[in-house]
Amino acid sequence: MKEPVHVIGAGLAGSEAAYVLAERGLSVVLHEMRPRRMTPAHHSDRFAELVCSNSLGGEARTNAKGLLQAELRAAGSLVMAAAEAARLPAGGALAVDREVFSHYVTERLEQHPRIEVVRGEVEEVPKARPLVLATGPLTSDALAADLQARLGEPFLSFYDAAAPVILGESIDMSVCYRAGRYGQDADYINCPMTEEAYRRFHRAIAEARRHTPHDWEKLEFFEGCMPIEELARRGYETPLFGPLKPMGLPDPRTGERPFAVVQLRQEDREGRMWSLVGFQTGLKWGDQKTIVRLVPGLENAEIVRYGVMHRNTYLNAPHVLAGPNLELRALPGVFVAGVLAGVEGYLESAATGWLAAVQAAARAAGATDPGVPPPESMLGGLVRFLASANPRDFQPMNANWGLVPPVPGKLPKREKRERMFARGLEAFRAWRERAHVSRA
Ligand SMILES: Cc1cc2nc3c(=O)[nH]c(=O)nc-3n(C[C@H](O)[C@H](O)[C@H](O)COP(=O)(O)OP(=O)(O)OC[C@H]3O[C@@H](n4cnc5c(N)ncnc54)[C@H](O)[C@@H]3O)c2cc1C
Repeated sequence: MKEPVHVIGAGLAGSEAAYVLAERGLSVVLHEMRPRRMTPAHHSDRFAELVCSNSLGGEARTNAKGLLQAELRAAGSLVMAAAEAARLPAGGALAVDREVFSHYVTERLEQHPRIEVVRGEVEEVPKARPLVLATGPLTSDALAADLQARLGEPFLSFYDAAAPVILGESIDMSVCYRAGRYGQDADYINCPMTEEAYRRFHRAIAEARRHTPHDWEKLEFFEGCMPIEELARRGYETPLFGPLKPMGLPDPRTGERPFAVVQLRQEDREGRMWSLVGFQTGLKWGDQKTIVRLVPGLENAEIVRYGVMHRNTYLNAPHVLAGPNLELRALPGVFVAGVLAGVEGYLESAATGWLAAVQAAARAAGATDPGVPPPESMLGGLVRFLASANPRDFQPMNANWGLVPPVPGKLPKREKRERMFARGLEAFRAWRERAHVSRA
């Protein structure tokens, strides 16, 4: 009789993982601390509870989340089956009745003959291997402290202070220029602002609407991590001495120093995604878009990840992962998934739960490593990003088109996306067959 595989956390990632393992014939022990210990955001004792929105994102064949949904469907995902069972009319989005959704997942797992559910907080990383760790953005303090100690470095963050990330191809390089401050390097893209452009930009930030945090997510801001709206509130010139300072960044086309400069930092190895340096923000998403597009050179910027400021427990994935297979370098045999692993979003959590379990199942069976989905697929792009992203100020990432290589040629945006969708799904299916990763 084989030892059971333990899965810690029965959220979006852990539920998917437990199902995959059990369907592959393995005995599973699924640990969930609720209702014995609740988190500040969950309300029930059910698995895969959706803590906020009831949408799993757009379904269109032009939508990055739509591609991840299609891949998960092709993988036989429990979360996608629950979403179908709980589907509500919502235009082009996959919205669900959250009660029906979490009841469905809970029932399927509790009634599974190979899954034992243990209710209670896991305070230390268990010794059993392989292991799937999926305790989410509100991982309990004891387990977070133990994980931190085992990883030996402060690679665990407790809040998310993220700046918007934009698609590289949407930056107007006839306006922006590459340079490092005082000619140190040319790693940054710089967007120069005239005084008039800065004035409009400052006014827009001052008038923008803030996201109202729940009581439990209120943050004490560190001075080095101040949201841009707070800097702007402190005074007209404050951002000019902070993230927008133009010193050492003359525009090579004029040789002159702009009034202000917005810098963009590369987020991924290929340079498909760029974040606005020092622009961590809790502003409403619509207002973020307006403000970003006021920056010269970013008039047509496509935002692939909006800025957020909220409590969030996650690992610095590029530092701690052994590779895109979601295994911790310092703890071989421990596979992480969900927000803890550095993704954002319900679907992304479920998808990494699925992959972590595929890996853990192969390890438990002593089978050949199935590898990870190809880079053209959304899941393949996402886990490669986790393993290779810029570790500096690493922030959790959601499904977006910057994660996968563009299709060649100049095509209208819609057609480009549709081709990327078809190519990604085809690549995912082909990999699954090659790797003998059966549907569940
Ligand atoms: C307030 C908030 C709102 C969000 N809103 C959205 C949204 O609208 N849309 C979206 O796509 N994403 C949203 N997210 C981000 C993310 O997609 C969800 O949090 C998602 O549920 C993450 O899945 P997960 O499996 O990583 O974690 P979770 O779904 O939170 O699952 C983790 C589970 O582990 C359990 N657990 C924690 N510690 C322990 C322990 N020590 N022992 C045993 N069990 C433990 C928890 O009780 C929980 O059930 C939100 C996140 C937060 C915090």
